[in-house]
Amino acid sequence: MSSDVTSIERRQFDTLIIGAGGGGLRASLQLAEADLSVAVVSKVFPTRSHTVAAQGGMNAALANVSPDNWHWHMFDTVKGSDYLGDQDAIEYMCRAAPKAVYELEHFGVPFSRLDNGKIYQRAFGGQSQNFGGDQASRTCAAADRTGHAILHSLYQQNIRAKTHFFDEYFAVDLIKDDEGHVLGAVIFNIQNGQIMVIEAKTTLLATGGAGQLFKTTTNALINTGDGMGMAMRAGIPLQDMEFFQFHPTGIAGRGMLITEGARGEGGYLVNGDGERLMERYAPKAKDLASRDVVSRAIAVEVREGRGCGPNKDHVLLKLDHLGEAVIQKRLPGIRQTCITFLGIDPAETPIPVFPTAHYTMGGIPTNRFGQVVVPVKDTPEEPVAGLYAAGECACVSVHGGNRLGGNSLLDILVFGRAAANHIIDYLKENKYHRSANEESVNEIVAKIKRYDQPPSSSDTASETVANLRKELKQTMEDHCSVFRNKEILKEGVDKVEQLAERMKNVRIDDQSFTFNTAKVEAFELENLMACALAAIHSAYAREESRGAHSRTDFTERDDKSWMRHSLYSFENGLDYKPVRTKPLSVESFPPKPRVY
Ligand SMILES: Cc1cc2nc3c(=O)[nH]c(=O)nc-3n(C[C@H](O)[C@H](O)[C@H](O)COP(=O)(O)OP(=O)(O)OC[C@H]3O[C@@H](n4cnc5c(N)ncnc54)[C@H](O)[C@@H]3O)c2cc1C
Repeated sequence: MSSDVTSIERRQFDTLIIGAGGGGLRASLQLAEADLSVAVVSKVFPTRSHTVAAQGGMNAALANVSPDNWHWHMFDTVKGSDYLGDQDAIEYMCRAAPKAVYELEHFGVPFSRLDNGKIYQRAFGGQSQNFGGDQASRTCAAADRTGHAILHSLYQQNIRAKTHFFDEYFAVDLIKDDEGHVLGAVIFNIQNGQIMVIEAKTTLLATGGAGQLFKTTTNALINTGDGMGMAMRAGIPLQDMEFFQFHPTGIAGRGMLITEGARGEGGYLVNGDGERLMERYAPKAKDLASRDVVSRAIAVEVREGRGCGPNKDHVLLKLDHLGEAVIQKRLPGIRQTCITFLGIDPAETPIPVFPTAHYTMGGIPTNRFGQVVVPVKDTPEEPVAGLYAAGECACVSVHGGNRLGGNSLLDILVFGRAAANHIIDYLKENKYHRSANEESVNEIVAKIKRYDQPPSSSDTASETVANLRKELKQTMEDHCSVFRNKEILKEGVDKVEQLAERMKNVRIDDQSFTFNTAKVEAFELENLMACALAAIHSAYAREESRGAHSRTDFTERDDKSWMRHSLYSFENGLDYKPVRTKPLSVESFPPKPRVY
């Protein structure tokens, strides 16, 4: 593609949504139904977004299986977050949850049913009745394919509502005007390389997480933190990136997820001595303790020589006692995964598991209306005009230091909808398109075209995307994993800095038909690098253990010094802002020791 900038196609919409997962599609549906013109850009066909892979379900206090209410759900979420979650956003989400589920039901999501016809709810980690009492069952499920059901229903509703889709287009960077309003993005068509400028009065980032930062992950190859990279390049800091969730039950050595629902249905973990290990680490909740707790327990068992298998490098998840009928009814997807990838049937043989990178708790800072917020002078947060974020790329923050299973599908739907509602109001006051700063548009176009030049003979020392990505993933796995300390993190900081430096010399050799996908991979790596810098710097600086951030040299939570959100930007490095501890209508939950 060699057209000059003036000939580049431009399209105008009220709202540009980057990302067609559950977050993006819930927002686009709300906007399209309000008769606004809305464009959804997605680098993969919408129903291939990672939301499709969600297995276990979505939390809402429906009380269909055990007594429940939103306030108990709120308590569990605040405790699960290790008191780093913002309590206004958490209250809002937990109160909105039942409505979000009923909406989905009306959109056509085929939830599993109880015998009385009500929506089936399973027990998940960190769920309790009565503020820390008995186990609750709060996770609404469509067997173990909940995300698949939700994403397909939302897509169909969007087609009906006439949302405009740009499928298999890659968004590179945000465009702005001279006053800092965000006005859309420059994208390119992955099939033919054609560049396009989408001008929009409002832009919503819904690009999902960054699990590809790590070598072993449950995340899809597309989860490369693109929106987070775009935000950082637009001068917006990333929040709480040191908090990365490791799911306790990834298939050992491969990373594919075995849903927490497997333990919710009665499965449990055993070590090499045949012991039910969680009884020691969480006497009450056992296998349904919070994810950070279970992941650490498995890592300790293996480290202390009580692992399973010839290398004693994993533990076993036992499901065979549940019986084939329960497994086939409630967990058909993971049964198939085990048969296909391991050649074992969990109805007969326990599954080898080990913690694997799963969920990005941090992200682009927003308030509970989905507005992206940044510190300005003495205020901890002021909205960036025209820019919104929702879903896993955002940090609102309802998950704080550790997300509870089943709270992410809830988060993306509740805040996708909330962002759309705020956009509808914003557009009533901001009726007209503004002019973008053309220089910044030209710079992005030039950046895309940079890779069009074949490498010259003097470029022999240039770096390949594949090698750098491999090194980055290994570095993050080795230096920013379940357990961390000063030395390991310091080495990690140095290595990631060096990799980011080497990134400047990346060239694409391949001018063949795969050229555009090679270009996509180069931009994805640039975004991963930004996320990695934010994560490793924030982790190195945080001298305490909280949620998923577990330091062997600072083993206690330190509320006096560290009950605050980290912010990392290219311009200012590290900064911090207070946790919003005040809920909307109830008393705040003060920090307490976290036991399960
Ligand atoms: C295997 C697995 C199982 C899970 N199970 C559960 C569960 O049971 N319950 C639960 O609550 N949570 C679960 N989660 C977490 C949850 O599914 C995700 O956090 C959530 O679905 C993310 O939704 P999203 O809309 O933010 O992003 P995604 O669904 O990841 O969608 C991101 C979208 O952004 C687009 N995109 C990204 N970058 C670009 C770009 N540069 N240009 C154009 N488009 C771009 C992609 O094409 C995609 O459409 C699970 C996660 C995984 C990985």
